[in-house]
Amino acid sequence: MNIHEHQAKEILREFGAPISEGFVIFKPEDIDHRLKKINSNNLVLKAQIHAGGRGKAGGVKLVSKSDAVKEAKNMFGKTLVTHQTGPEGKVVKRIYVQEAYDILKEFYLSCLVDRESSKIAFIASTEGGVDIESVAKNHPEKILTTKVDFKEKLTNAEVDKVISLFKFNETQKKEAVNLINALFNILIKKDASLIEINPLVITKSQKIICLDAKMNFDDNAIFRRPEIQKLRDINEEDPSEIKAKKHDLAYIKLDGTIGCMVN
Ligand code: ADP
Ligand code: MG
Repeated sequence: MNIHEHQAKEILREFGAPISEGFVIFKPEDIDHRLKKINSNNLVLKAQIHAGGRGKAGGVKLVSKSDAVKEAKNMFGKTLVTHQTGPEGKVVKRIYVQEAYDILKEFYLSCLVDRESSKIAFIASTEGGVDIESVAKNHPEKILTTKVDFKEKLTNAEVDKVISLFKFNETQKKEAVNLINALFNILIKKDASLIEINPLVITKSQKIICLDAKMNFDDNAIFRRPEIQKLRDINEEDPSEIKAKKHDLAYIKLDGTIGCMVN
């Protein structure tokens, strides 16, 4: 099961990861009375859909505080077509509002279950951001994978290895250690199967922030995580998958008229 970016960020915050202030709105008027929460005059409106590639499709918009309501009105109801939505796209029904940062560098960091080795894999790259797919294809040497066992706690050496490409200063390193431990703990304690932070950024003021977050949970473990189940957004799911779930079938809709059913 997938959840929205704003929900993933709440979980990351709960586990001690560096997340910036932000809030979710369900209609443009909701912005007004909550803007006080954000100090900066520059905001980012982020369409909340269960798909990446929003930046390139107009789903991440830099706006000033005074234009925020107008721009939110434009974004609500829009159908975003990204490389992950399929040609029919996804309709924007909620927006995450966040401070806009001056970004110095964008990194990629993810943590997932590696079925082949039965381990947890951390994947890190200094070349994060909206073109990570092409980095993976054309510059695989810029991506570092660290595999660790399922266990109680990561060792310092393992954490150091995961973040070794990033060349952080001491303060940043402390934040990064908290982040790596947060990802590891969420994977184990919440039965996540994938957590992806892309980009993880260093701002011009040298702060580390998880600017985007994607989380995926193991459907077969969801029954024991009611707090995660509550985050389900049925609007984002394919109608045939919803129907299959009702009958307890593990079914994944693929392109065209093909689906995958393994039970
Ligand atoms: P997606 O992965 O769906 O395209 P992201 O949240 O990763 O969406 O945003 C795409 C890009 O937009 C980021 O790589 C970053 O450059 C920029 N961006 C996102 N959030 C902010 C922000 N709060 N401040 C400044 N730039 C941002
Ligand atoms: Mg992203």
